[in-house]
Amino acid sequence: MVTQPQLRILISRDEIAKAVDRLAREINKDYQGKQSLLIGVLKGSFVFMADLIRRLDLPLELDFVRLSSYGAARESSGKVRVVQGIKTPMKGRDVLVVEDIVDTGITASFLLDYLKTKKPASLKFCALTDKPSRRRIPISIDYLGFAVPDKFVVGYGLDCDEKFRNLPDIYVIED
Ligand code: 5GP
Repeated sequence: MVTQPQLRILISRDEIAKAVDRLAREINKDYQGKQSLLIGVLKGSFVFMADLIRRLDLPLELDFVRLSSYGAARESSGKVRVVQGIKTPMKGRDVLVVEDIVDTGITASFLLDYLKTKKPASLKFCALTDKPSRRRIPISIDYLGFAVPDKFVVGYGLDCDEKFRNLPDIYVIED
């Protein structure tokens, strides 16, 4: 028999919408007149990205990068690789990375180093959620939605074994 994990709501859809509004206001202010290129990190950021860009009043372009470090497990393997790279030229662009969650910081650190090699004019980092207590590599998050506790979270694009991405709220998986 397959046991379903217990989910407990952590961040409601209303709280998420308010945070996305706040982040969009900050980004709208900071990116006026810039050559914005938003880079979403697949798959987890796609719901956040879709909501965020519709609140941005900027002439922006989009691209996506796909990385792998997590398998079916809930722990990072610590080894990150690019599965799908950026096709849009980044030289001279004001690049904003859009990520679902920062945990140890290994993925974000790897990604920022990879993107710096493409010589953007500026490079900033936006994360919907952050688990600061788990950090192993320091990461500066320029735009942050929520700090979350050291629990595995799902919903609003975040998965567990590819499930729960469609939930409109963010939940903690109870062990
Ligand atoms: P890090 O490299 O910072 O340890 O992990 C970042 C990546 O791990 C995120 O992009 C996400 O894919 C995954 N991750 C870390 N914590 C969680 C979590 O609580 N829930 C989900 N769904 N993914 C997580």
